Amino acid sequence: MSLLIVRFMVQRPIYLDCHATTPVDPQVLGAMLPYFTEHFGNAASASYLYGWEASAAVQQARETLAGAIGATPEDIIFTSGATEANNLAIKGVVEANLQKGRHIITVATEHSAVLDPCRYLQTLGFDVTILPVQTDGLVDLETLKQALRPDTILVSVMAANNEIGVLQPLAAIGALCHEHQILFHTDAAQAIGKIPLDVDAMRIDLMSLTAHKVYGPKGIGALYVRRRNPRVQLAPQLHGGGHERGLRSGTLYVPQIVGFAKAVELAIALMPDETKRVSQLRDRLWQQLSQLPDLYLNGHPTKRLAGNLNISVAGIDGQALLLGLQPIVALSSGSACSSTHTAPSHVLMALGRAKALAYASLRFGIGRFNTEQEIDQVAGGAIATIQAMRQVARV
Ligand SMILES: *Cc1c(COP(=O)(O)O)cnc(C)c1O
Repeated sequence: MSLLIVRFMVQRPIYLDCHATTPVDPQVLGAMLPYFTEHFGNAASASYLYGWEASAAVQQARETLAGAIGATPEDIIFTSGATEANNLAIKGVVEANLQKGRHIITVATEHSAVLDPCRYLQTLGFDVTILPVQTDGLVDLETLKQALRPDTILVSVMAANNEIGVLQPLAAIGALCHEHQILFHTDAAQAIGKIPLDVDAMRIDLMSLTAHKVYGPKGIGALYVRRRNPRVQLAPQLHGGGHERGLRSGTLYVPQIVGFAKAVELAIALMPDETKRVSQLRDRLWQQLSQLPDLYLNGHPTKRLAGNLNISVAGIDGQALLLGLQPIVALSSGSACSSTHTAPSHVLMALGRAKALAYASLRFGIGRFNTEQEIDQVAGGAIATIQAMRQVARV
């Protein structure tokens, strides 16, 4: 084992990366455990008790999740997560609506699980408009309106951004799409359990969900697919046993489904208190950090997730800053790193940030299990690190 890992195991850095993933809530784990062992049946086994138990648990979860977004249980299609749900929504709608048109619209700040399927469709000859955003990260409705065409079949705009936490005006976008009879898909991976969502009030036709950003297990998510007013036509992307109304074949992952529903149910029950507590922690962190000069807040100051703080630090190398912070806090920069190159965040670039500031960005994701003491520790550590690095950069 490397010395670095040993050192970090002795004193683990404080976890402030809740946009990447969250720990499973102990109550969620408790709900899941019996479905690995005594209630292990296949939900599709219809001829004996084991199957009935599994199937009843899945039905209960479907009802809980549907209730959380104002849908009916039959509208919920379980997937392996939001990546798969986004792929099913985008490719599935396009494939099933070829006679209507070949144009789709999305936004520059979307997650790669939306942008990459769209780019893939572009290589197949589909027409994709990628809308810019304003400097605060919000989509301009007038710009969206201008982009709509008679052959537009789908608009995909995320609910909450995974880097800057910005909340898009879903209800206004939904109303606009509905008026023009264009399907509206939203990636709500960061939003479920954090902000109220209602598929009817917001006129959402397809919505991608995932469990692991909201204290549920990894590897489970869902796609909401509207069946009435209008009935969404969708082509399956996985073919097989015909599970999930033929839209997503594959044996249902029962323990994960149970955990997903429990996580969402818990998050919705806790939402008022947690939003308040987490946003107070976020504001406390920003108050301390912003005593330093030349720090910039990325994204809209208030239309954002409670636990999100995204800042750019002037006069510092972004990679070096992350390395310097590693022993103190687990967080990510806006940059997407691969083994061969580091690119500045496409989200921050879309806000019009200069490249150096886009590189030198920090994304804090504060969550359920963080404490005031942890926030103060991180603030102190980050301030000292930034001051020291700026001093070095100056000489
Ligand atoms: C995490 C995330 C995804 C991917 O979800 P998985 O369930 O990990 O596949 C997609 N979109 C957004 C906005 C996310 O934050």
